[in-house]
Amino acid sequence: MKSVAVNGYGTIGKRVADAVSAQDDMKIVGVSKTKPDFEARMAVEKGYDLYISIPEREKLFQDAGIEISGTVDEMLDKTDIVVDCTPEGIGAKNLEIYKKLGIKAIFQGGEKHDNVGLSFNSFANYSDSFGKDYARVVSCNTTGLTRTLKPINDLCGIKKVRAVMVRRGGDPSQINKGPINAVVPNPPTVPSHHGPDLKTVMYGVNINTVALLVPTTLMHQHNLMVELENPVDVDEIKAKLNATPRVLLVKASEGLGSTAELMEYAKELGRSRNDLFEIPVWEESLNVVDGELYYMQAVHQESDVVPENVDAIRAMLEMEEENNKSIAKTNKAMGIL
Ligand code: NAD
Repeated sequence: MKSVAVNGYGTIGKRVADAVSAQDDMKIVGVSKTKPDFEARMAVEKGYDLYISIPEREKLFQDAGIEISGTVDEMLDKTDIVVDCTPEGIGAKNLEIYKKLGIKAIFQGGEKHDNVGLSFNSFANYSDSFGKDYARVVSCNTTGLTRTLKPINDLCGIKKVRAVMVRRGGDPSQINKGPINAVVPNPPTVPSHHGPDLKTVMYGVNINTVALLVPTTLMHQHNLMVELENPVDVDEIKAKLNATPRVLLVKASEGLGSTAELMEYAKELGRSRNDLFEIPVWEESLNVVDGELYYMQAVHQESDVVPENVDAIRAMLEMEEENNKSIAKTNKAMGIL
């Protein structure tokens, strides 16, 4: 049983903690918080040992009646690996601390690939992280792109991808990012960072992306145009995506024609926090025209990277050599379709 610490118990961190706890070969030894807020209180109520990132704030936690088990340094002493889920940019600073302590660490997509040196996706390059000390699970959008482009590349080769990424303006709880009422080219330059980011896990893929922010909090939405190396028909693509774990073909005609309805579907599945770990692809959108595949998909930004974090732990701690075995194990424990 391997020990895992989560540094930064926010949107991603709390989900990673629960996903790790659901596995039978790893356990959470602690999670960290900077503030004694409701998430800190609920972490303790769930049974997680809570450590504080800012030791001077101990009294604040005491005053709030939230029991702490020590400081982050003490948490790091107890673990085989840390999953750093702190906000963008803080992970790069924490990397120096982890290096000094000689502790393995996984970072999130907000950190730059160059600062970590290795990016991770369960399907595209699992084995590159085997036994490695530091890796970064690519962002929610890049994870979404990889989930569908990797099987398509395996099936028939990809000549070139163009993708338009419609991004949620903020997460549902991010009141500091709203209210918003605009469509924002983000960035207004081409390509957006998503294409180059995909190349950190799908080496050599020819892709360009443009991205815009829209006033929604539920999910991202992607529109892909893929020039195929060896054109196949739509049914072969459907069969391939159907057989790919963590990808879900959905039908607008069944009432799943929007991100709102997909979130309703996640609720109906009884998922904790309404999470949709899978990448839904609209079946009706799949079409091959003049050797070019078109499709539309959505990404639940708060949860799609979570199973990838579990697989990254298995790869880096050399717990499972084959990606497919780790993917299957993670999926079973998390109830992924
Ligand atoms: P978040 O703000 O929801 O959570 C971050 C947590 O870290 C908060 O609890 C915060 O209090 C805590 N924290 C802040 N400074 C800290 C420090 N110095 N030490 C320890 N904890 C600290 O952020 P998030 O959305 O979970 O994002 C975390 C990472 O995951 C970022 O790299 C982000 O880019 C990436 N990511 C986010 C999403 C998303 O949609 N939310 C999706 C994929 C990847």
